[in-house]
Amino acid sequence: MIAHDGMFIDGSWRPAAGGGTIEVVNPADEQVIGTVPAGTAEDVDAAVRAARAALPGWAATPPARRAEYLTALRDALAARQEEIAATVVAELGSPIGFAQRVHAGLPVAVASSYAELALNHPFEEQIGTSTVLHEPVGVVGAITPWNYPLHQIVAKVAPAFAAGCTVVLKPAEDTPLTAQLFAECVAAAELPAGVFNLVTGLGHVAGQALAEHEGVDLVSFTGSTAVGRKIGAIAGGAVKRVALELGGKSANVILPGADLERAVRANVADVCRNAGQSCNALTRMLVPADRYDEAVAIAAEAVAEFVPGDPADPATRIGPVVNAAQRDRVRGYIRRGVEEGARLAAGGPEAPEGREKGYYVRPTVFADVTPSMTIAREEIFGPVLSVIRYEDEEEALRIANDSVYGLAGAVWAADEDTAVAFARRMETGQVDINGGRFNLLAPFGGYKQSGVGREMGRHGLAEYLQTKSLQF
Ligand code: NAD
Repeated sequence: MIAHDGMFIDGSWRPAAGGGTIEVVNPADEQVIGTVPAGTAEDVDAAVRAARAALPGWAATPPARRAEYLTALRDALAARQEEIAATVVAELGSPIGFAQRVHAGLPVAVASSYAELALNHPFEEQIGTSTVLHEPVGVVGAITPWNYPLHQIVAKVAPAFAAGCTVVLKPAEDTPLTAQLFAECVAAAELPAGVFNLVTGLGHVAGQALAEHEGVDLVSFTGSTAVGRKIGAIAGGAVKRVALELGGKSANVILPGADLERAVRANVADVCRNAGQSCNALTRMLVPADRYDEAVAIAAEAVAEFVPGDPADPATRIGPVVNAAQRDRVRGYIRRGVEEGARLAAGGPEAPEGREKGYYVRPTVFADVTPSMTIAREEIFGPVLSVIRYEDEEEALRIANDSVYGLAGAVWAADEDTAVAFARRMETGQVDINGGRFNLLAPFGGYKQSGVGREMGRHGLAEYLQTKSLQF
């Protein structure tokens, strides 16, 4: 596994200012697989200076030329897909099949979509007697989490490049090797020096220094609501732009007449995806009271197919969670669910059989969950599904919307019109209708405390643009 001992700043790998390092651990066997430098405020300052110096040239580069660079970046990511997948398996613990398809595959498609948008987006428009210019915001400070380590980088960096912004990235400390591979791809695509800069490091040191840096015009953050709140306050205090993609506690509402078997099985697979570490995971399943027992039985049976195993084995469908803290946190929530009176239909707080080593948790289905229980309210970020009963549609809507979050959701009904009518009343940023698929051009982002701003497609591009009106 490649591990650079420097920072990628101004087009080359250079030594870090300080001597601190961060160990990268394989969550499947707890072995250290590499170390990266722990960046300091000094490294962040050097990176921001490089990004500022590169900004005028990059902002003035015609969008069609920026599209060519994005295509080259897409090609570089595609050429190294296998290596990217293997790296994500090693540092996140994602099953290899999912790593190839999603962790390595999706970013190629997203980079491609922004190459196209750079080419076709109307960066100028006429409104009456004014010409309105959509110009780059400037230097972007991107702070990303570990759960989709490459996707979350590309979902920020590609639209920033398309818009004409330059970037300093501070990736999550658990998954810095994937970020280093991304920097190598930027280098292979021969983007001008300083357009992209990487500083690995701890959140409260390098991340905070980046959010606070006066040379950063926009902070784009994905991660926990607790840190998002801090970053929002820092950005607000400095009157700089901010985009926040935060947590979720999304509801999957199964209406009477829906295909129960299909809806429940899809929900279990969704909650086990990425070992439950997805901000848009459908962690609350709402079921009509008269089909409740049937739904719990299907869920318990379906979850048994997700046996925690070695992520490098192609047969594995669920691997470990990312680190010991996350494992303890998930197990803690499972214990809390039991203490508060929920019934374990499958799983539990113990280590899965034969998986005492590694950060494994048991995929868990809770029945008899009431909306006030902690497991129905807080983001667990593990493979834990809460099954909640409702009496009528109005109660289902009340429960679905009774959350500080509003990132995703799903509705299943006998027909599409019924599902859409319900989805219109949900307070959330995205709703899957009868098992609807992920669309990488559709805006992704939250209502309420799930965040500020949108990623993906042209809405994601708009985050990195500011408007100027020329009056005639
Ligand atoms: P986190 O919010 O602490 O980390 C996300 C990123 O922010 C990392 O790069 C981290 O280094 C950085 N960071 C941390 N503190 C910072 C600070 N003070 N200033 C600037 N940057 C800072 O998330 P985590 O600890 O990795 O995970 C904790 C919980 O967050 C999870 O259990 C989950 O609930 C949630 N989470 C949500 C998402 C999401 O996609 N919405 C992703 C990861 C984690």
